[in-house]
Amino acid sequence: MDRIARWSRGVDTTCVLCKNVPENREHLFFECSYSLQLWKSLAKGIMGSSLTNSWLDIVSMATDGVMERRKRFCFRYAFHAAMYSLWRERNRVKHGERLTPVIVLKKLVNKEVSNKLSLLRHKGVKEMQDTIQVWFSTRG
Ligand SMILES: [Zn+2]
Repeated sequence: MDRIARWSRGVDTTCVLCKNVPENREHLFFECSYSLQLWKSLAKGIMGSSLTNSWLDIVSMATDGVMERRKRFCFRYAFHAAMYSLWRERNRVKHGERLTPVIVLKKLVNKEVSNKLSLLRHKGVKEMQDTIQVWFSTRG
C-alpha cells in the first residue's frame, strides 16, 4: 500500500489492524501494536532478550546463521507464519470482514506452527524431534 499511495490519490492507506498509523511494510509486519502482540507470542520464547520488531533485524537474524540451527528453524517458521497471517488478516479486513481479536489470532497461529512442525516430523524430516522440542520449550 505504501507503494500504491505514491501514484494513487485518495486511497486510504491507514493500517487496518490498528487504524492509527499509515500502512507500510515495516509497520504492518511487526511495528503495528496488533502485529507486535502476535510476533511477541511467537518469537519471545525463541529470541529472549534479543526480541526485536525491526524488519531488518528480523530478516538478518533469519538468514545470518548466528542463531543455533534448530532455533533458527523455529524462528523462520514463526517469521513466515506471522507474515502470512498478518497479510491474511489485513486482506480480510480490507474485504469488509471483522478483525480477528489478537488473542484469538495468537492461539491460532501458534497452533498452526505446532501442527506444521508435527507434520514434518511425521514425514520423517531429519532432526525434527529436536526442533519440535525447541519449539514447545519456547512456548511460555
Ligand atoms: Zn497498525
